[in-house]
Amino acid sequence: MNFDLVIRDCRLIDEDGECAGDIGVANGRIAAVGEGLGPGGYELDAAGRYLIPGGVDSHVHLGQLSSKGDLTADSFWTGSRSAAHGGTTTVVPFAAQHRGMSIGQVFEDAMQRAGAEMATDYGMHLIITDWNEAAPHELTKAAASGLTAVKIYLTYERLKVEGDLALELISAATGLGLPVMVHAELDELVTQGRDDMLAAGQLGATSHAHSHSRRAELLGVTQAIELADRTGAALYLAHISTPEAIDIASDARSAGIDVIAETCPHYLLLDESTYDSPMEQAAPFMCSPPLRGEADRGGLLERLASGAITIVASDHSPYTVDQKLPHGAKTTFTEAANGLPGIELRMSLLYTAAVVTGHLSMNDFVRLTAAAPARLCGMYPRKGSLDIGADADLVIWDETPWTAAWKRLHDNVGYTPYEGMELHGAAAAVVAGGEVVIDGPQSELAPGRGTFIPRSG
Ligand SMILES: [Zn+2]
Repeated sequence: MNFDLVIRDCRLIDEDGECAGDIGVANGRIAAVGEGLGPGGYELDAAGRYLIPGGVDSHVHLGQLSSKGDLTADSFWTGSRSAAHGGTTTVVPFAAQHRGMSIGQVFEDAMQRAGAEMATDYGMHLIITDWNEAAPHELTKAAASGLTAVKIYLTYERLKVEGDLALELISAATGLGLPVMVHAELDELVTQGRDDMLAAGQLGATSHAHSHSRRAELLGVTQAIELADRTGAALYLAHISTPEAIDIASDARSAGIDVIAETCPHYLLLDESTYDSPMEQAAPFMCSPPLRGEADRGGLLERLASGAITIVASDHSPYTVDQKLPHGAKTTFTEAANGLPGIELRMSLLYTAAVVTGHLSMNDFVRLTAAAPARLCGMYPRKGSLDIGADADLVIWDETPWTAAWKRLHDNVGYTPYEGMELHGAAAAVVAGGEVVIDGPQSELAPGRGTFIPRSG
């Protein structure tokens, strides 16, 4: 059989197993796996390295306004370009409804921009902040167009949904077969913590960590699970930063509630002590929930190993240092834009934190970075697998250690919180839809080359 592309001498890894051999691609899909395949119209030599399914990042903010009105530093184009260089071939950003906006319009607008700009294949989640009269009908239309999930916030004055409206919204999404992604922090505690710090005149970054406390996350997760229990929702807990919150989710799952938890690489590698510095040094590390301590990181690694955490996503929330410090050194903790970039380094960071250290196998690594997020988004096994017939999104994974530096990345953020960190693992070559888009320094990425992958099932 002739193939468009053959990759030779691979250690092929999916979430279930490993085999050695070649992989053949035809018409953008995986056509065969075996020994001595060929010939291929184009051939790559993996030289005995890992060959894994392209990553799926199910939590990224691109081309979007924050709760404070900042536009993310990455557009759909620069963010997806950066993702691909890190081995992520499917990206699921958000269409973001702010109050007073129409769900139908924000969804259409985001889909149009994504179609013109995305360099990788993509899905589309929808942030809902205003469950208005037109919303049920508009959500039904978006779901029919392939919307992947709905996201709500339990905190932030300008984003949160509460009470009966939250129940109505979640029930509607659930009725349409959509998972409900939740930013789970208890608003009362976050607000109270913030007000206490402001009243005490403590305006630095540690006050941010103080208001977004571990307890606020625990109680937010409890509240989200309560909402899921009352509505029958498929709950997707975003960016969990503490092991205790993971345990609450695990207990709920044992009790029959459909809940999965995500964590992000920054909670596995970065420390809250960065907030003890003056704002100019601390702001680039501010995110919500905030960075935690060593015991939290150890607890999260254990829960990755035990399978209690289902997804590792980047929560790429890219803001430049200028956006983080609108008033320079005088910027207070309530003024700094919150969020960390991480779309390109996600896989290298998880590999470094958890595979090299023996907490995860390569199969676990593929499950957490590709298969599980693909399942959540209704894209599995088309994405996140090496099944015959799956989209040929493939990564040759090179274990050689390297040093993180922003100037080696492809985002538009201007810094990386991991500058100077020794990392293991990087995408040496990336195939997307059967096309070799990255091979070492060569890149064939272009805006608009990605395809929308609608949710199915
Ligand atoms: Zn987020």
